[in-house]
Order: sequence, then C-alpha cells, then structure tokens
Amino acid sequence: MVLRFNDVKEFPKLIEDLQTSFAKHLTKPLGYRKKQLEQLYNLVDENQDELCEALFKDLHKSKIESTLAEIGIIRQECLDAINNLDEWASPEYVKTSMIHKINKCHIRKEPVGTVLIVGTWNYPIHILLLPLVGAIAAGCTVLVKPSELAVNTAAVVTKLFSQYLDKNAYRIVNGGATETMSLLEYRFDHIFYTGSGAVGKIVMAAAAKYLTPVTLELGGKSPVILADDIDIPITAKRLVWGKSFNTGQTCIAPDYILCTREIQEALIKEIPKAIKNSYGSDPQKSPDYGRIINQRHFDRLSNLLSQTKGKIVIGGNSDRDDLYIELTIVSDVPKNDILTQEEIFGPILPIVVVENVDDAIKYINERDTPLALYPFSKNDKTIKYILDNTRSGGTVINDTMLHASVSTLPFGGAGMSGMGAYHGRYTFDTFTHKRSVMSSPLAFEKLLASRYAPHNEFDLKL
Ligand code: NAD
Repeated sequence: MVLRFNDVKEFPKLIEDLQTSFAKHLTKPLGYRKKQLEQLYNLVDENQDELCEALFKDLHKSKIESTLAEIGIIRQECLDAINNLDEWASPEYVKTSMIHKINKCHIRKEPVGTVLIVGTWNYPIHILLLPLVGAIAAGCTVLVKPSELAVNTAAVVTKLFSQYLDKNAYRIVNGGATETMSLLEYRFDHIFYTGSGAVGKIVMAAAAKYLTPVTLELGGKSPVILADDIDIPITAKRLVWGKSFNTGQTCIAPDYILCTREIQEALIKEIPKAIKNSYGSDPQKSPDYGRIINQRHFDRLSNLLSQTKGKIVIGGNSDRDDLYIELTIVSDVPKNDILTQEEIFGPILPIVVVENVDDAIKYINERDTPLALYPFSKNDKTIKYILDNTRSGGTVINDTMLHASVSTLPFGGAGMSGMGAYHGRYTFDTFTHKRSVMSSPLAFEKLLASRYAPHNEFDLKL
C-alpha cells in the first residue's frame, strides 16, 4: 500500500478555505457541531471492520485492542460530547466582589478558530480522531494529518473522512516530515501535536512565529515502582498486559521497573506464567500479540537488546521478516545502561534494582518528568508517599495505563512529557477560548462617580 502524500502547494488554499468557513461561522451552531459529531461516530462505527483490518495490517493489532483502544474510545467520546455539549458551551456566570455587584459578569465559550492536529502511528485512529472530537465540539474548523507510518490506517481514514465530514470545515492531508514542516509555516489558532519530544520542539518553535498555542502530547520513560509488599501474581499479570498491549508501542506503556532484588527474583518466576496464560507458549502465533511498526523501529529495539549490559532473563527472540519481538525482560540493568536512556517504545521491560522506595523516588526525580508513573503497594501510606514525592502526567495505582480510558480525567504530560491535556471536556476546553465579558449598566452613574477624577480623600476609602 502506498499512501498518496498531498502536494504542499495545495496547503495555502486548503487552509484559507478552512479559515473562511470559520469566519463565516459555519461551525458555530451547536446543532451543526452535534451533527458532525454524529457523523464522526458513524465513520468509526459503520466502518469498524475495514478500520480493524487496516490496523491489523499496520500493527497486527488484535480486534479487541482495536475495538477498545481505537474505535470504542472515539464512539464513547462522540456520544459524551453530543450529550454534554449544551452544558459545556453554555455561558458561565461568575461571582463578583462587592464593588462589581451591579455589573453582570460571565465567560463566553468561543471556538479558537482553525486548528491543526498531527497524529502518530501507534494508535493511528485514537490519536488523530480523539482531539478532533473536542475540536468539532468546540466549533473549530480543523485540518488533521495522520502519521505516514501507519499507511493502511491513514489511507482508510483519509477515504472515509471526506465521505462523512463536511469538507468545508474538516480536512485531512497526508505527508511525512516535509509536508508537516510545510504545514507548520502557516498560521493556525491552535496546534495539537502528538509524537516524540524531538519533533515537539520543532512544532513549538514553528508555533512561536505566530504565538500559536500548542498542546504537546509527548512520550518519555514511564516508571513502575514495586514496593516490597506487592501481590506478585497480580502485579506480573498487569505488567505483562501493559507492556504487551500494542506490543509496548504505547506512550504510557510501563517503560521500566524499579524494585529490590527480592522482588525482581519473585517477578522473574511469575512473569512467564502470565505470558503463557495470555499468549500461549509461542506468542508469535497468538492473534492477540502485535508487531513492530516497521524495520527501522525493529532494528532500533534489536540494537537496545544487543547493547544492554543487563541480563535477558525472559524472551529475547525476534524475527525481522515478521517484525516480531518477543516480550523480553531484562534484569539487573545498570543505572546508566542503554535501556535507561531513551523511551523504549517496544516489548522490552528492564528491571533496575534499587535499595528501597526512597532510592526509586530519587532515581525518578533525577530524570525527566514521566508521562505516567505506576506505583504498586498494598499500603496506602507508601502510595501516598510516592505520589507526594514525585511528579508525572498521570498515575495508576497498582495497575498500568487504564487512566487513559477515563474521559473525565485530563490526559497529558508534565515537563518533558508534554503540555496541555485532553479527553472528554478537557479536549473541548483545549479548543475553546474563555472570553471574559462584563456588562456595565448605564444606571447608577451617580453611585459610580467616584472613579472619575478629580479624586478626594473620601474616594480613597471606597
Ligand atoms: P511519528 O513518527 O508518527 O511522528 C509523529 C508525527 O510527527 C507524524 O505525523 C509525522 O509525520 C510528524 N513528524 C515526524 N518527523 C517530523 C519532523 N522532523 N518535522 C515535523 N513533523 C514530523 O511518531 P513518533 O514521533 O515516532 O511517535 C512516537 C512518540 O510519540 C513516542 O515518544 C510516544 O511516547 C509519543 N506518543 C505520545 C502520546 C501521548 O498521548 N502523549 C501518544 C502516542 C505517542
């Protein structure tokens, strides 16, 4: 499958058309927004099989993963937005101090304008269309650009996009780095970028030209802290689940484990059972186990395994022709090992041995703020201690990744893992300008006279 890239010469007219539609208020009526959200719901719902097939071709994604993490979440958030839009978009009346009691103050919710959404390949539907739900709900006109690496999914989404959504307000273009760089030269009212931190910096620098606000949904190394009192079998199952989901190619996948040597040894005994229960004795044959997106990423991951100074204690097998890498556990990983440097983004789970929880906290705080942090302990005080002494975009206690499926929780990074947040109402807020409005009455002019000069001592007492 070859994905047709758009010619960059098409961009100025395309963006101007979207800006004109916005200026004409096409996307502002709430009825219009709801209709388009219904259409987006129908896009994923009526074409679920074709979309799942494309995801399978790109990532060997299982039907259940595609349904839950790609299609189901778009359906759920479209419905959520349709059902809550009247409330989200309604003016918010605010309390004022005594001095402003005669003025009426409220916040108008106004769409920010024409926005750009740039997606990644790992969840090529979710990452592209979830921000779109909020952008439509907010009343923006939108240009989306899927990742060029999930070729099959990008092609199907591109075909369906213009069939289901109003072309005057929502457009899709395809391309790689060159095309994205070209898009970034134009003026947008918000840029919503998901991807690596390196490209995040390029996006932010380009946005600075017009002081365009950005949301950066980036990645990083999301740590797991295992206290000494954990339930080993449950922890093993949940870690295997989190690291195998989409073959570890998830921004919030558990990236590495910090625990004592005793816990490491107990875990190494338990993890093979968890793998076998989920994927059988040969996960390569399992319909539920995915593949690496392409040979470049396969080679990157293979290189990590060949260079680590840790011990490969579980897994380690791979097949380049099939882009298959077995879930691999690397124990006793030195603190400065190659596996501790960059985000792994694949099915390799290193264990770094630490003395205790304080040592784990110190290790995390010496590094960039992670997108997610996963503390495991049966003791609430230990969990609170870990949360009080660390920072992360999000956290799941005694499990991994599940917070991303709760639309009432803001999803986003902190520090180097990103800025801004979305999901549910937070996406609506991202694409909404909160305009402060105060209405000053024409009556009471005598009462207000003291604000006008010349002033006297009495005015100062007011
Ligand atoms: P990618 O290669 O698909 O790139 C993302 C987007 O950036 C694509 O649309 C691509 O065309 C564009 N791009 C690539 N290079 C560019 C350049 N030089 N200039 C301008 N645009 C460019 O995806 P990736 O970057 O490999 O994504 C993986 C990263 O994304 C990981 O770090 C992962 O953690 C992160 N991620 C974060 C989230 C989140 O929600 N926080 C979700 C998914 C992935």
